[in-house]
Amino acid sequence: MELIYKTTQVETELKNALEKEEFRLYYQPKVNLSTGKIEGMEALIRWEHPEKGLIPPAEFISFAEDSGLIFPMGEWVLRTACLQNKNWMKAGFSPMVMSVNLSVRQLYQPNIIDMVCGILEETKLAPEYLEIEITESAMVDKKRVIEVIRGLRRLGVQISIDDFGKGYSSLQYLNEFQIDNIKIDQTFIRNCTTNTNNSTIVKMFIEIAQRLNMKVIAEGIETKEELIFLQQNSCNYGQGYLFSRPLPPDELIQFFDKIEQLTPQEGISKNLYN
Ligand code: C2E
Ligand code: MG
Ligand code: MG
Ligand code: MG
Repeated sequence: MELIYKTTQVETELKNALEKEEFRLYYQPKVNLSTGKIEGMEALIRWEHPEKGLIPPAEFISFAEDSGLIFPMGEWVLRTACLQNKNWMKAGFSPMVMSVNLSVRQLYQPNIIDMVCGILEETKLAPEYLEIEITESAMVDKKRVIEVIRGLRRLGVQISIDDFGKGYSSLQYLNEFQIDNIKIDQTFIRNCTTNTNNSTIVKMFIEIAQRLNMKVIAEGIETKEELIFLQQNSCNYGQGYLFSRPLPPDELIQFFDKIEQLTPQEGISKNLYN
């Protein structure tokens, strides 16, 4: 009984938080490991609780899923991330791909493709600048996963498998799902330079993915040694505290490249959009 009561209470709090706009998106750069350039960003949700401070997603996503609140929350995340990406482009920064995490339940949301399509139209973000990350553990109902991936790809959106290697997916899935990128789970990256099993597994993941024409991202890079190991083994992209923690947008722009100085005309339009 106690558990049921608590769950309901959290759900009510989450609903209020959404209405009161207490959620924030932080962004973590994705770095091209051969050029060192930032080519992407991953949007990661936080709850800025008025009393408890910043709450990480691990503490509330599952409650949002259980209550169905993940649908409006997921829509808010997607809209905010797409708008942010569009605004960075308008401000003259090099175009980047924005990655948004999709939860298991959202995969089964009947109108998920229409929702994504609607937000792309609304924000006028070109679909190639959006990537959807689906965690490997969500890939249980093969038929549904194929259907959603197909629908998203038809829109022109990129797909990546998150936390690769951690869940139940078989290598067969890599063949049957049309995936653009795989993100090697950070537990394999951790100690990949000192643990020979992890180093072998990471090398194997990179090779399999690239032979299947996918790009590979290593998540959770924390040390220079891990970075060098990944570069030596031709891993395409990397993300991790070594480069940057997830940050709010205003703290991130210090990392960005200006494509070129804004012309006066662009300067004016920049002000118009902000
Ligand atoms: P994820 O998508 O696998 O995101 C990577 C997590 O690893 C993030 O945690 C990030 O802050 C953390 N991380 C990045 N680099 C490092 C590193 O070098 N070392 C360590 N130790 N950790 C690192 P975060 O932000 O707490 O998110 C946790 C998970 O919550 C995400 O895992 C994702 O599955 C989920 N999540 C986050 N935002 C959203 C969202 O908007 N919607 C949904 N459905 N899920 C989300
Ligand atoms: Mg992710
Ligand atoms: Mg991950
Ligand atoms: Mg994860």
